[in-house]
Amino acid sequence: MSGKYHIDVEPEPARFAPVSKLNHIELNRCLGCLQCARRDCIYDVFTDRKFLPRELVDSANRLCKACMRCVQECRNRILIKALNPEYLELGNAYWTPEIITSLWNQAATGKIPVSGAGYEGPFSGEGFDDMWTDMSEIVRPTRDGIHGREYINTAIDIGRKPGRLHFKDGQLLDELPPIVSSPLPILLDLPPAARRWSAVKQAVLHAARQLKLLVFDDAPQSPDEHVFARYAPETDVGPDCPHRLFEFCLESAEPEIVRRLAARIRTLSRRRPDAIIGVAVPLEPRTQEAVLHFVDQGISVLRVYADRNGREFSKSYPRFIKEAVRAIHLALVQTGRRDCVTLLAGGGIAMAEHVAKLIACGADGAVMDEALLAALECRICRQCAAECPVALESMDAAWGAQRITNLLGAWHSQLIEVLGAMGLREIRRLRGEIGRVMFFKDLEKECFAPIFGKRKD
Ligand code: SF4
Ligand code: SF4
Repeated sequence: MSGKYHIDVEPEPARFAPVSKLNHIELNRCLGCLQCARRDCIYDVFTDRKFLPRELVDSANRLCKACMRCVQECRNRILIKALNPEYLELGNAYWTPEIITSLWNQAATGKIPVSGAGYEGPFSGEGFDDMWTDMSEIVRPTRDGIHGREYINTAIDIGRKPGRLHFKDGQLLDELPPIVSSPLPILLDLPPAARRWSAVKQAVLHAARQLKLLVFDDAPQSPDEHVFARYAPETDVGPDCPHRLFEFCLESAEPEIVRRLAARIRTLSRRRPDAIIGVAVPLEPRTQEAVLHFVDQGISVLRVYADRNGREFSKSYPRFIKEAVRAIHLALVQTGRRDCVTLLAGGGIAMAEHVAKLIACGADGAVMDEALLAALECRICRQCAAECPVALESMDAAWGAQRITNLLGAWHSQLIEVLGAMGLREIRRLRGEIGRVMFFKDLEKECFAPIFGKRKD
């Protein structure tokens, strides 16, 4: 990819009143003269506030960044902030209210999120939260992320790479396999329940074209260079298939199903050397074996997908996506197959840092799904089959495309910040690079175990 990649963002306000975290309460005795702590709000909340008669609310609640300066500095102690019960009901234990409202803000502004009074949470937790990225190069000025002078490349290649090249008299003898480049390590895919809404599909497609990204879509009639066409595994796809990028999407990694599909793909890839053929496999305990088998049969792209909360589809001890991806990556490395395939992973990718962490665990790129809906004001209420509270079926596709563009613009900036702080100039160098990350369990074992003994699991 030539030239610097840049995403133009522009403010795109929400259609519905966002659910604010805090309600602003003023006790009696306030004269409302604004000659006090409220005048000093650096986010101009009290200057920009409006009373919205249609919603019967004061917009100050949603403009507030929760820095608590006004509460602390009010001399009469009459300003109070209280948690909004509607906010606490958003999403679930994985898609927390903080994550959802942060995605809304990024989609509205295109900017890196501001967390007001700083990070309030614990320093370790489940899933991606027990993994920290190395920020030891954060002080190096030329690598100062989005503000630095060095270009930080976030592009990845999608397709099979040759193990070695053969030359004779300076001429390359090998036929190179087809490869496409994506300027971000992110591919787009709508969750199944939202695929029936045509405006939502159009918004995602439009954003993908604008940003030169790839989007998974149920095999459309006409080919599109930005579409990774998805087929059911039993579809009889012949060599005259109009798409150059297509995948077969499995619902199980059952060995017999894998074996049959792999044999068909082997024949098809010989007849379509110009095509990039992929397989999507659900993450379950048998997936690693299925991945190795598909790679041996010449598959170019493997997409593994977890459930919406990033967990394996398994009843007993489902692993989190990062652990499952790491195991697959290591199996590919140990058997000398790693560069034979592009490994993509999706399910539970809710923040820009999740993309970087997944790549550090061994994926080439991440698939963004539920977060696309959050950009469109989705409340992750999981009632898509009934009535959508934010009427996604009737939204304007151009509005949706701008919101998705803004969210990806904010994620691009954050990825650059993370890479800059790690001292990396391109995201391809991060793949499987766990020397650049720390796991809480390892630190606990190394630092605390000698003092406090073993943890009781
Ligand atoms: S808490 Fe901070 S951002 Fe919110 S209104 Fe008060 S000073 Fe402004
Ligand atoms: S708000 Fe609820 S119903 Fe609407 S798309 Fe999101 S999860 Fe589905």
